[in-house]
Amino acid sequence: MSPAELLTLLVGTPSVSGEEGPLADLVQDLAATQGFEVHRQGHNLWFSFGKQGGPRLLLNSHLDTVPPCAGWEGDPFTPVWTGQRLQGLGANDAKGCVAAILLAAVELSKHPLDGEMVVAFSAEEETGGNGIATILDQLGPLDGAVVGEPTGLRICAAQRGLLILKCTARGQSGHVANAQMLGTENAIHKAARDISRVAAMDFPIHPLLGSQKAQVTQIQGGLRRNQVPDACEFFIDLRTGPEQDHEALAADFQRLLESEVAVHSKRYLPKGTDPAHPIVRAALQAAGKMGPVGSGTTSDWAFLGTIPAVKAGPGDTFRSHSPNEYLTLPELEAGAAFYADLVTSFFKLQATNPPGAK
Ligand SMILES: [Zn+2]
Repeated sequence: MSPAELLTLLVGTPSVSGEEGPLADLVQDLAATQGFEVHRQGHNLWFSFGKQGGPRLLLNSHLDTVPPCAGWEGDPFTPVWTGQRLQGLGANDAKGCVAAILLAAVELSKHPLDGEMVVAFSAEEETGGNGIATILDQLGPLDGAVVGEPTGLRICAAQRGLLILKCTARGQSGHVANAQMLGTENAIHKAARDISRVAAMDFPIHPLLGSQKAQVTQIQGGLRRNQVPDACEFFIDLRTGPEQDHEALAADFQRLLESEVAVHSKRYLPKGTDPAHPIVRAALQAAGKMGPVGSGTTSDWAFLGTIPAVKAGPGDTFRSHSPNEYLTLPELEAGAAFYADLVTSFFKLQATNPPGAK
């Protein structure tokens, strides 16, 4: 099967998060046909090959897509080739990466490898449910990981996490006419003071990720136009850096704000890998890039614990979750070559510079 045919098949099999079954079936069959012994749990698939007892490298990408957004020309679920470009939902995010990893695995399996390549295609990346986190302990010990997402083959060695805080300012309800006399505390005024504090907060600048501000993204308070509100609720969205701890940050916010601060979501952890680590060096070598970059968007890397990892793959992050998403054939072919080179380079670097030797 040619790379173009493979991508067409993947894009032509709908796999909105939670409904990846048919695509998981297809990929499982394709991999089995190539001789891989494929394991499956839910809609997650994994297999490995190469030298047992050597270094183990995970290549992962996700099978699911977001639901189609408004603005598509034609049916998002029907792949359409225009010249070298395939348009369809998931072509860019991340079926191009899935196809490229599969192609690389097939190529690498033809020759002896200096380590074990572990391939995992996971479900529900876009919703963060029954995905990579549920199979990680079955993959065995890993010396490195590559998360396939459309980065234009730039090597992301740092990825922001996501902390969402739910804040509640409390006051007393009462008649507006009597508020001055009774000293009734207005919860919206209290929230406003806190929101000004949030907007003024500064966070550490990261060498790859740059600076970041906390954003208040939703607010709700007050029942009537003539009643002092007794409660006002607002949400804070902070994209965190690898050196930041979500619990400690939540405590910082609680110290600073008059409102009650509760953690609404903290599971998308920030990630960073030392640029000198073999996984970063191997990826840079394979991509022909001088240095790594940072990425503001989260991915399955958030769930990989302390495994040294990079995020990289064919395609462009700005095409993701957008109408008329596409991938080009040269991008796909460069992606497959990149993953294969990366695996070979990583095992070579691990052999000359084993863990703990530096
Ligand atoms: Zn993705």
